[in-house]
Amino acid sequence: MALKVYNTLSRRKESFRTLRKGEVRMYNCGPTVYDYAHIGNFRTYMFADVLRRYLEWKGFRVKQVMNITDVGHMTADDVADASGEDKIEKKAREEKKNPKEIAMFYTRAFLRDWKALNMKEPMARPFATSYVKQMIVMIGKLVKSGHAYEANGSVYFHVPGFRGYGRLSGNSIRQLKAGAGGRVDDNPDKRNPLDFALWVNNPRHIMQWDSPWGRGYPGWHIECSAMALSLLGETIDIHTGGEDNIFPHHECEIAQSEGANGKTFVRYWMHSRHLLVDGRKMSKSLGNFYRLDDLLKKGLSPRAVRYLLLSAHYRTKLNLTQKSLCAAEATVRKIDAFVQDMAAHSSGKAASGKGRKAASLIKAAREGFEKAMDDDLGVPDALSALFTFMSGVNRERDAGRLGRDDASSVYGFMVDIDSVLGLGLEGLPVKQDVPDDIKLLAQEREALRKARDFAGADDIRERIKKRGFAVEDTPDGPVVRKPSPG
Ligand code: AMP
Ligand code: ZN
Repeated sequence: MALKVYNTLSRRKESFRTLRKGEVRMYNCGPTVYDYAHIGNFRTYMFADVLRRYLEWKGFRVKQVMNITDVGHMTADDVADASGEDKIEKKAREEKKNPKEIAMFYTRAFLRDWKALNMKEPMARPFATSYVKQMIVMIGKLVKSGHAYEANGSVYFHVPGFRGYGRLSGNSIRQLKAGAGGRVDDNPDKRNPLDFALWVNNPRHIMQWDSPWGRGYPGWHIECSAMALSLLGETIDIHTGGEDNIFPHHECEIAQSEGANGKTFVRYWMHSRHLLVDGRKMSKSLGNFYRLDDLLKKGLSPRAVRYLLLSAHYRTKLNLTQKSLCAAEATVRKIDAFVQDMAAHSSGKAASGKGRKAASLIKAAREGFEKAMDDDLGVPDALSALFTFMSGVNRERDAGRLGRDDASSVYGFMVDIDSVLGLGLEGLPVKQDVPDDIKLLAQEREALRKARDFAGADDIRERIKKRGFAVEDTPDGPVVRKPSPG
């Protein structure tokens, strides 16, 4: 089956074809480490993680790069050219620390949450400050080719000189000039108000590097272009980010990369929608954000948070509520119980052997899962194929038609699918916690049954049932278990 993904650039779903056979080169815009990442940020990273996992499930080798921005991201970052203060330096001043300490502290916090959410480690996690040399080379190329110019020690990208500017975000230069979606400043050094900074001369800035234009620091956008070029090459397959990255960040990345290299920068641009709280974007500036720790303190597990973040389609907004968090926790428990039951069943007393029904349920589930995921990562439909599958298997099991080998195949299938979901289903402890007095009751019932006292046996079955257990008569004798949920 063939994967289709929605490309923000073309505004339609396109068949996914890699530049190099079997290999996907993917760049994800990563965190600016001036504060803790909230779970809205993690929704965007989770989308990248599930995308990577699914590509691997389909057999691609994935070269994934996610940067860490530790310089140059300004406080007003939604305007055509960012202005304000460097976010990290601002925090450093507030906390009377140096910018490096701030960056390292929040990077560590970020990585802790990343691990807790069971996200896969990318191939590289470059710090922007480690790639300043490469940024300078790229800026030099842009100056040489006339896409950029120097003024008073700063270097600006000349937007009207790049024909494609505005294509990704659907802005035209005329609209932007008129102020629609692209507020501009009136910096007299700029030839055009839409031009954006590649290199900034500002003696007050703490982090400074030497360059052909004097000491200064890089603009935020050039960082991602230079890191993507250095680690993945001139043309990459996929670039991701949250929807607020489309303009100006990714629009500017295209202009710089294509201006410098003369090649298509990205084949598929993929953007996830925001996580909302009470209908508004979760954001640090609105103060309506939750960190992973906040949710863990409420008693939620990181697995439930992971489930919640991945369960909605990445191109729909997801509203965070107490109800949705509780539902996610319950769903993860239900999946766990199913998987644990299959593990127990496959090594339990049920008859060995395979039923045709179980094999056909697995086949249908695999196809349903892949079909949904192939359609622009349709996680909700993929999950619903999985739940239909679980119900079908439970029906077989409750009817005594699920053999040990069947259960083992079901378990294997769930673990396989979990390489995409990342819920950590493999190796869950197998629970067979039937209390001793229940086991004794079951033995008593069996004795009555053998003595053909069926009324007495039924009576005990009822007593066992009232305690929340079920007795199943298998060819190998009675088995007591918790009834499968759902
Ligand atoms: P920042 O650290 O602000 O640069 O954000 C890091 C990433 O998180 C970017 O890709 C943003 O698009 C994304 N992001 C920010 N807020 C949200 C949100 N509420 N929901 C989903 N993604 C978000
Ligand atoms: Zn970026």
